[in-house]
Amino acid sequence: MKFGEFADAAAEIESLSADTEITERVTALFETAGSDLPVVARFVQGRVFPAWSSRTLDIGPNYCYEAIARAAGRNVSADDVEARLAEVGDVGEVAASYEFGGQQGLGAFGSGGAEDLTVASVADELDALAAAAGSGSQDKKIDLLFGLFNRASAEEARYLARLVLSEMRIGVGEGTVRDAIGAAFDVPVESVARALQVSNDYGEVARVSREAGAAGLDELELEVGRPVQAMLAQAGTVGDALDDWGEVAVEWKYDGARVQIHYDPDGLGWDDADGEVAVFSRNMEDVTDALPEVVEHVREHLSAPAILDGEVVATDDDGDPLPFQAVLRRFRRKHDVARARESVALDLFAFDCLHAAGEDLLDAPVPERRDRLDGVLDAGVSAFWTTDDPDEVAEIEADALEAGHEGIMLKNPESTYTPGRRGRNWRKRKPDVETLDLVVTGAEWGEGRRAEFLGTFLLSARADGGFETIGKVATGITDEELGDLTALLEPHVQSQDGQTVDVRPEVVFEVGYEEIQRSPTYSSGYALRFPRFLGVRDDKDPADADSLPRVERLAERQ
Ligand code: AMP
Repeated sequence: MKFGEFADAAAEIESLSADTEITERVTALFETAGSDLPVVARFVQGRVFPAWSSRTLDIGPNYCYEAIARAAGRNVSADDVEARLAEVGDVGEVAASYEFGGQQGLGAFGSGGAEDLTVASVADELDALAAAAGSGSQDKKIDLLFGLFNRASAEEARYLARLVLSEMRIGVGEGTVRDAIGAAFDVPVESVARALQVSNDYGEVARVSREAGAAGLDELELEVGRPVQAMLAQAGTVGDALDDWGEVAVEWKYDGARVQIHYDPDGLGWDDADGEVAVFSRNMEDVTDALPEVVEHVREHLSAPAILDGEVVATDDDGDPLPFQAVLRRFRRKHDVARARESVALDLFAFDCLHAAGEDLLDAPVPERRDRLDGVLDAGVSAFWTTDDPDEVAEIEADALEAGHEGIMLKNPESTYTPGRRGRNWRKRKPDVETLDLVVTGAEWGEGRRAEFLGTFLLSARADGGFETIGKVATGITDEELGDLTALLEPHVQSQDGQTVDVRPEVVFEVGYEEIQRSPTYSSGYALRFPRFLGVRDDKDPADADSLPRVERLAERQ
């Protein structure tokens, strides 16, 4: 497929507003994608690589502006591109506003030439771009990108730029792709959904749907070494859980960071996973190198190929848990891991088993998965009870808090493991007033001594397809944190009006508050009373932030 055809389809999709029309157009795109189907199924969502892959293009926006500027001609600089971006706010629009192709002589870089771009050639070039590493790699990346832009029409450049900067945003979400695959290849949507959960690869699922139908999809299995999305929890009460299920599975809720552990003594066999152990974060990022003690633990205590789910907790010298920020610092660490390890120790608490010794366990109930976990891992398994007695649950909770952990998790004993779902089968019960994880969508520059820093942050809750404002937070932030937060948020600033800036929804804050009130001041219809900043949830994407319905529930419960 020509990349131009893809760009035309993307433009058409972007112009549609009804979900059914979008799905129909995506369906038609899939039907005509031919051998490019797997790539098209990813590109249309703005993904270059499969969802399970930790690969990234690893190219900063500035390098992309540089490539656009070079393709645009001698009189254009990266600063010009950035200035235009500040005006129009969409890198696609900016890329489409230049006349490319005048730099044929220089097109020898990458595979720049006169021939039309195809979906396959764009995918190949982006693959090469991602693979470039070591000294001079940034120059090579710019050259490759320049080669692509130099061959692009305005429409192609629009979607190329958005693809490269992960800003596709044409209204095609995971649900649209799932429905379109079902419609294009006449397979039940449930089979597509299951296959997506298991493989985490929209391209692969689209291809298998076309080539082998529902039967082929049902045969897809977990692959050790390829992360799946983590199952998520909702807030809930012990009373409701007992009413709903009769008996509850109870576990301590550890205040650490989620890990998914993949182990195969024969090697993991995926391009970007070498060795026998891989550890992934909640966002399926490969964090293996940052957590050597988890790797060592697994080698020593895990006796069969497996995929495990669990929590890693940072502990102090006495073995008491440290706040979860400490564990996040370990996750982010790229250099000097050995030194970081000396100052913050990590403990593993595995609580689930998705695969053991060649067998997928997603469809097995909680106690069976637990048995398998106990069978393969002989240390670092979290404690587990099943009971129908609320007093026993209260005792377990008191013990968890006494040991310095966050509270308890309640799980439906009969439930299966549903990757990526925030269903009712796992419920977290926190003893204190619930905090909220909210997305920063705006900010204000400070005054006087703090004029160089963003000081007040506008917070929003997730609402149907977007975000609704709910309050501003300026309390609970140290001077040092102000600097960090400014550095974190400044790249996401979209526009400025006096002291006030609009911020792209990228960063999630955890905030405490005294009360949620009804209020016309904010678009959500609610306001937080005495909000205070508790920390950045860098383990959460805006899509994982708290939703307006949750805010409403909390408000009602007060
Ligand atoms: P939250 O991040 O507040 O939505 O709470 C859900 C998170 O609690 C999960 O993603 C895990 O990282 C963490 N967690 C801690 N202990 C457990 C447990 N026993 N079972 C499931 N999740 C747990």
